[in-house]
Amino acid sequence: QMYRKKIYSLVLGTNNQGKVREIKKLLPKNIILETPKNLNIKSPLENGISFLDNSLIKAKYFSKKTNKVCLSDDSGLEIDILKKKPGIYSARWAGPKSNFEVAIKKVYKELEKKSVTWNKNIKCRFICALTIYWPNKKFFQSKGVVEGIISRKPKGRNGFGYDPIFIPNGHKVTFGQMTFAKKSKIDHRYKAFKKIKKFF
Ligand code: IMP
Repeated sequence: QMYRKKIYSLVLGTNNQGKVREIKKLLPKNIILETPKNLNIKSPLENGISFLDNSLIKAKYFSKKTNKVCLSDDSGLEIDILKKKPGIYSARWAGPKSNFEVAIKKVYKELEKKSVTWNKNIKCRFICALTIYWPNKKFFQSKGVVEGIISRKPKGRNGFGYDPIFIPNGHKVTFGQMTFAKKSKIDHRYKAFKKIKKFF
């Protein structure tokens, strides 16, 4: 019942411009989008213990602040040999200036500490948790995962975040080397989006 109405306008619950760009392209063209940046709202503290938790925290927070439907994305990179880090700390590894060269250096430094040899695959995955939160407090969540390995060196300038070091399974190049058209047919965000398409 609550989902019967289609969503025609929403607040994107993120201040990450890379995400804003990619989410916009996944949504139907006619949807009216607002971002916390436009509305001059800061991000909440993400103190959940999972991607789904944090995604709900953000969607609820921005929906309450604006009294509008909100869509939020919480995502990140899990590296098995690093006990799934950076995981929910993926954004924080980039520091206060969101510098992903810093975050990527930290990944290689942490891998070095584990004495990785690169003749074995460094297994990892991108995870995306989405939440749609309505002003009537109802919400819907979905999750998408793409498995892959860490590239020996960062490659490519497309995308954002950890894209230059992520090689999806079944492919030879990093997300950073793929066009958005290609990445967005196989990535975690697209997979999570497929499950919420019915609302738009
Ligand atoms: P948060 O969800 O805003 O807490 O941060 C997620 C972080 O994970 C982003 O800042 C990126 O660094 C990383 N991340 C999430 N999705 C992607 C992606 O598609 N490519 C590269 N990095 C990503």
